Amino acid sequence: KDAEAARRPWLASYPEGIAWDVEVDVRPVHEQVLAACAKTPDAVALDFLGGKTTFGDMAKAITALAGALQSQFGIGKGSRVALLLPNTPFYPVAYYAVLRAGGIVVNCNPLYTVHELSHIADNAGADLMITLDLKMIFEKAEALVEKGLVKSLVVCRFTDALPPVKRVLFSLAKRKDLADPRRSRIAGKVSHYHELVARNQEPKPVAIDPHADVAVQQYTGGTTGLPKGAMLSHANVAANMSQIDKWGCGLFYPPSKVVAVLPFFHIFAMTVCMNVPLCNGAQVVMLPRFEMKALVDLLKRTRANVLPAVPTLLAALAKADNVKAEGLASLQVAISGGAPLPNEVRAAFSKKSKALLAEGYGLTEASPVVCCAALRVPSKPMSIGLPLPATDIRFVDVDSHQPVGIGENGELQVKGPQVMLGYYENPEANAEAFMDGWLRTGDVGHMDEDGYVFLVDRIKDLIICSGFNVYPRVIEEALAEHPAVDEVNVIGVPDEYRGEAPIAFVKPATGQSATEAELKTFLAAKLNKIEMPREIIFKDALPKTLIGKLSKKELREEYAQLKAKS
Ligand code: AMP
Repeated sequence: KDAEAARRPWLASYPEGIAWDVEVDVRPVHEQVLAACAKTPDAVALDFLGGKTTFGDMAKAITALAGALQSQFGIGKGSRVALLLPNTPFYPVAYYAVLRAGGIVVNCNPLYTVHELSHIADNAGADLMITLDLKMIFEKAEALVEKGLVKSLVVCRFTDALPPVKRVLFSLAKRKDLADPRRSRIAGKVSHYHELVARNQEPKPVAIDPHADVAVQQYTGGTTGLPKGAMLSHANVAANMSQIDKWGCGLFYPPSKVVAVLPFFHIFAMTVCMNVPLCNGAQVVMLPRFEMKALVDLLKRTRANVLPAVPTLLAALAKADNVKAEGLASLQVAISGGAPLPNEVRAAFSKKSKALLAEGYGLTEASPVVCCAALRVPSKPMSIGLPLPATDIRFVDVDSHQPVGIGENGELQVKGPQVMLGYYENPEANAEAFMDGWLRTGDVGHMDEDGYVFLVDRIKDLIICSGFNVYPRVIEEALAEHPAVDEVNVIGVPDEYRGEAPIAFVKPATGQSATEAELKTFLAAKLNKIEMPREIIFKDALPKTLIGKLSKKELREEYAQLKAKS
């Protein structure tokens, strides 16, 4: 028992009634969702801008599309099908239909450029792409077909997803935003979703081995080199659903309504906003993109109670003067993940909303969730919580690769049923990704004596300044406490004397101002000399990734360009 406690110190902090060594459910993902559909066919599964889809209708569409994918396009075991779709009811239908047909989902971000999409389509060898007739998306899919990277398209009609009144309004006011695939240069290579589904073709059964068969090939890691395709098996994806479900204590069951404002093509939303609720029969209320007013209206209209979010979204809700506490009143739980949740954002959000704010941590390669605050016991500030059931973690010294003790910083490494099979056709990246069977996360942190996990930063964001490790996050947290600072991001840049030096970028809070000297004086009480940013640069907006995380990559590029000019 002592050996077990030493190996898994977090077990002592596990909430009563939740066991670490539970059996996780690894049934194929589409089987789970179709079982949920069969259980409550009349319940609402999807709400899209007021247009509703029941579980029964969703199952019919999944089955019919799977039949068409098999018969018309020969999709079966091992076929890769790219999805280029924003959050709409078509997304879950297409996702589960590809899996039901035996294929592999390759998620693509509709905001990617054709150049970025070309790499994914080419690397994955996805012959078929399912997309939408909104011009800005369809034109990218069309370009991929013209480049010979995708052979055929299945196109969904955006207006079909809207409730009748909105359909008419959209057709009148926004006609120009719609493409006409029948008149496209590649019309011969386009099939229409509604026509395929109307054929109601029963798919042939496919024998899935959940441990060996890939369900999703998820591209990640664009910050260094080209994105790599993380192969997540059915068992990986299903295990994470089951782990979250066990940790979530019934949160994702009816009558819960889960907000999907994060895009489904990102692993966080794919699992937390789609797979977990839908496979448990709970309702998903979606927004095609984040807009403050639309989100508040959605909360008021649907009384949704669960909000998975990234910290920048929570910060925006907390700070917006026109978002009042009543607007957030239906929320019981907000889950923050994807990036560090600054203390000051946690405090500001909790001042406005009574919802329990649980921080979680994950990465694409772990389908994604690894750690999360337990919902029934108080979390520790700044902690990403405890490892989920059936998940093992360790911390390893960044240089010596030896495991470090409690309280010491090292690279976080993970073992568990949610950890990917590996990257697609990339032996070099695979060799780097694992160490003695543990997944290397590239994140640095430690565990306290109660087993709570704290992250300090990513290895590649670490700034080596005069031989000392400087963690950008420490500087970011310190600056965020100043009232004149709205958003902050810190990067390391080459420095003649110190090797590298931190530079801080600050977006000032509305109506507030502070000079660089004032902020440096403020920081002097909080940081040591080595951590003090060499420069503080003010910007009206800080670059973000497409899911809304503050982006260091673009700041590095901007800074390099700035220096090249000066
Ligand atoms: P992705 O694979 O795009 O989901 O990115 C995963 C990365 O996001 C992780 O390796 C972390 O660096 C970061 N991340 C996710 N959640 C958190 C969190 N709660 N705190 C700090 N970093 C996080």
